[in-house]
Amino acid sequence: MASTRTTALPMQTDVLIVGAGPAGLTLAAGLTQLGVDHVLIERADSVQPGAKAAFVQPRALEYLDRVGVADRLVAAGIRGHHFSVHDGARTLLRGSYDNLDTPFPMMLLVSQQTTEEHLNRRLTELGGMVHRRHKLITFSPDFPGVTAAVAAPDGSVRAVYARYLIGADGVYSRVRSTAGIAFPGKAREQLFALADVRLEPGSASVLEDTTFFFSSEGMLLTSPLADGQHRVVASVPPGSKAPTAEETETLLATRGPRQGGPKVVEVITASTYHVQERVAERLSDGPVFLLGDAAHTHSPAGGQGMNTGIQDAGNLAWKLHAVLTGFAPEGLLDTYHGERHPVASGLVAFTSQITSLATMRDPELCRRRNDIIAAAAKAPGITDWLARRLSQLDISYATEPADGTYHVGQRVSPALVPAAGLDWNLALPNPSTGPTESGRTGPLNFQFVDGLETPLLIRPDGYLAAHGVPTDPHAVLANLASYLPGGPTR
Ligand SMILES: Cc1cc2nc3c(=O)[nH]c(=O)nc-3n(C[C@H](O)[C@H](O)[C@H](O)COP(=O)(O)OP(=O)(O)OC[C@H]3O[C@@H](n4cnc5c(N)ncnc54)[C@H](O)[C@@H]3O)c2cc1C
Repeated sequence: MASTRTTALPMQTDVLIVGAGPAGLTLAAGLTQLGVDHVLIERADSVQPGAKAAFVQPRALEYLDRVGVADRLVAAGIRGHHFSVHDGARTLLRGSYDNLDTPFPMMLLVSQQTTEEHLNRRLTELGGMVHRRHKLITFSPDFPGVTAAVAAPDGSVRAVYARYLIGADGVYSRVRSTAGIAFPGKAREQLFALADVRLEPGSASVLEDTTFFFSSEGMLLTSPLADGQHRVVASVPPGSKAPTAEETETLLATRGPRQGGPKVVEVITASTYHVQERVAERLSDGPVFLLGDAAHTHSPAGGQGMNTGIQDAGNLAWKLHAVLTGFAPEGLLDTYHGERHPVASGLVAFTSQITSLATMRDPELCRRRNDIIAAAAKAPGITDWLARRLSQLDISYATEPADGTYHVGQRVSPALVPAAGLDWNLALPNPSTGPTESGRTGPLNFQFVDGLETPLLIRPDGYLAAHGVPTDPHAVLANLASYLPGGPTR
């Protein structure tokens, strides 16, 4: 279908994306880069401010690098290096991102608003756009796609036919509910308070790491933010209101480092919230797909939600392109649910365990928990394992256990094989003689890599499609479709 670049809402499109949060914007940027006809609608008239995601994790940065956004975000943010678990002034565990095998060994502290603004800007540069003040009302099946009813800014309702409909419309997704996709899980009773604050200069040095304070008084999480602020998150009693400066100071003094009690100069924003832990029963239903918070929601502690949505988008973009260009069969799209649903379920289970551990109150149990964490932290590899988990570099679609050799579906570090945008990427061992010039043939980029023992074929989202493939790029290109997930070589 030819792409028509007008600001009027098209009446038909290959892909209709609902919601221009980080997930929808990442998908739109990827589709634009790949030349896929799509329409992105968003009910809000601009990127919304607010205290939401404060970190971009290394794995999300690796994907954002493929769409040309990572370096700008890194320039706009602050590189966080360490995460800690404390009991008052006692350090139970301290981990680092410094040794992670990635070009982005950092917990990038940057606001969600800045992340969305950069995604927006990149989308525009690539030739895409957001149809703002357009709201999805409903949609109905229209084989093989759907026809959506979209409320335009002038109050009129427009019909848009889409071959595929993408719900990137957040936790209360209209797409999900209209598709009748269940969102099982629970809402935690525990109330949390969040305050983004400015601390008195000098009082913040003890709060340089992103730190969980595990105290029998309740949970406290503190983290520096990009613009000299600090985020304070705490479990609070039912009925509590958004914390004031004094209440935030009290939380820091009673549960925090207990070293003079940091002084709060200004509360920038404060709120309370309940955590929901849910994963959509299916991430797709016919022509409808869910990504981001529409597909999964969980505790924000650990900084994972937005990052997971960005990677959902990365998983789906190249698959939509492959199917819409006729390169791959429709069945490739089934692997979106197959690969991302376990990731979402695992994430909800992981953050739920952290939340349960962090909100224990019985003093004796808390003492035992803290001793166990301190002992575990001394075991070799534990803090590195945690860093890989939090950074999301451990996400893999491999079905075989990892034993040190290559596995189809595993992430290939761009520190080993430099990323090639959203192209397929053939990494070849450096020959002892002969040409070693990189190049491309059709949609396949190829490059020679030092230290590689076998040729690797890498998907556009950075996961291994095949290993031990022919060294001739033309031979690989001729059989590219056979290396798709779910294909005969898997
Ligand atoms: C307090 C807090 C702290 C957090 N901290 C972190 C963190 O540190 N790290 C992290 O990774 N995540 C964090 N998160 C989670 C993160 O904010 C979300 O995971 C992220 O916003 C989800 O992105 P999304 O694009 O899926 O959905 P959203 O950001 O919710 O975007 C959905 C978009 O869809 C639009 N929309 C909805 N319905 C319609 C409709 N019918 N028609 C048109 N448009 C529609 C909305 O206006 C919105 O712009 C935090 C969240 C909170 C609340």
